[in-house]
Amino acid sequence: MPLGKLEKIAGWGNYPLCESYVVKPRNKNDVKEILNKSELIARGLGRSYGDQAINDNRYVINCTYLNYFLSWQPNEGILECGAGVSLEEIISVFAPQGWLPMICPGTKFVTVGGAIANDIHGKAHHVDGSFVNCVLSFKILLADGSCVEASRTENSDLFWANFGGLGLLGVILSAKIKLRKIETTYFKQKSLVIKNLDHMLEALEQYDHEYNYSVAWIDALAKGDKLGSGVLTLGNAAKLSELPDKLKSEPLKIHSKSKLTVPVYFPNFTLNTVTVKLLNTVIAFVQNSPKQFVHYEKFFFPLDALNNWNKGYGKRGFIQYQFVIPEENGKQNVAEILEMIASSGCTPFLNVFKRMGDGQGILSFPFKGYTLAIDFPVTKNLKAFTQLLDKKVLEAGGRLYLGKDAMLDEEMFKAMYPQHKEWLEIKKKYDPTNKFSSNISRRLGLDVV
Ligand SMILES: Cc1cc2nc3c(=O)[nH]c(=O)nc-3n(C[C@H](O)[C@H](O)[C@H](O)COP(=O)(O)OP(=O)(O)OC[C@H]3O[C@@H](n4cnc5c(N)ncnc54)[C@H](O)[C@@H]3O)c2cc1C
Repeated sequence: MPLGKLEKIAGWGNYPLCESYVVKPRNKNDVKEILNKSELIARGLGRSYGDQAINDNRYVINCTYLNYFLSWQPNEGILECGAGVSLEEIISVFAPQGWLPMICPGTKFVTVGGAIANDIHGKAHHVDGSFVNCVLSFKILLADGSCVEASRTENSDLFWANFGGLGLLGVILSAKIKLRKIETTYFKQKSLVIKNLDHMLEALEQYDHEYNYSVAWIDALAKGDKLGSGVLTLGNAAKLSELPDKLKSEPLKIHSKSKLTVPVYFPNFTLNTVTVKLLNTVIAFVQNSPKQFVHYEKFFFPLDALNNWNKGYGKRGFIQYQFVIPEENGKQNVAEILEMIASSGCTPFLNVFKRMGDGQGILSFPFKGYTLAIDFPVTKNLKAFTQLLDKKVLEAGGRLYLGKDAMLDEEMFKAMYPQHKEWLEIKKKYDPTNKFSSNISRRLGLDVV
């Protein structure tokens, strides 16, 4: 296997950009061969927003060729597959047989390895928890060349440290995951127009018991008595008996390939407060659609309809800032953060607001509270602003999602995640020479020193 072509790569936000030697192994032996090199990081489909899967002048192991199915137990819904298999591939094969992944994030273009390393969550986090809840075990190639199995009972420290572990403990080769039985590929959806933050929090509290899926969009430029206004979308899996006749003929229909692509990077000036206001009006209109039965493609992955939509932010790139803060004093803290964002001049764009349930992995992001994920184009003032936000989030007892972060500094990260000490002990045990490292591990001090 040719060892390493120097390529310019980035995460989904196209920021930061770096040059790395990219290798594409096809199997375990190929990965073992690469282990002779030092300072490597695995990469899936590059849907992390920041510097999680890039490695300045070092090695990046693109795992997307590890995309084979190994075994399937239809009675239990247990699938064993290579870590490079994407949720898109799982859905394409198993949805027609009545199965979907248990945890679906906002795009289906993520690999199983990437989903473990960031312990991803979806719209049903308050009910289903994060990706760890569908993983029975995985096989991982460690720094010393050994391949071990990790589960809740075997090498359990390695198991828990990998969820949110950013690929820094080894290369995950395969995983056994549980899929969810479905009667249809449709969801019964309800949308509510939300007047302000009081209304938003009350509605989340009220409907989270009734609906397994809930997510809101907030008008991030709204202020005063409209602060926190937006649209709340709720849903439950649709049963076959509930479907209208016209959908009953193909209840397990799957998605088709998207035909729309953003062909080039938009010029930087295309995104400004005027376009954002205009788009906010369009989003409010579309999300508040009266359609009751919605296909999973629109329900889970609306952004997948447009290939390479990240180029719409221009070559300067963008970040997605996602935090979670506790429910205690949540209203006051969310209000203050929304006010900071609305007055920042940083052109807040797409966003998602929801209530999360409890978290589990050592460095996993979620815990019980409110989360907001919001895009900002990269500008010269952005870092100064995110540092103010970081301070506010920390004061509120919250933390940032490392799978999306691109700007946090080491001191702030360590204050937000005091459990980093426990995680670093496990890193020392399994990777004492720092074979696995990345831009984010150097930025946040997640390397063994
Ligand atoms: C439009 C969009 C919507 C999103 N919505 C959500 C959401 O709702 N919830 C959510 O939680 N996330 C969301 N994300 C983020 C995304 O789900 C995660 O970043 C996911 O981890 C990306 O998977 P990937 O295969 O692209 O991995 P990459 O981005 O390539 O890598 C992510 C991490 O996984 C590690 N990794 C990858 N493969 C392996 C392997 N084989 N072994 C060890 N480590 C590995 C990498 O080192 C890196 O640290 C969204 C992203 C986009 C672009």
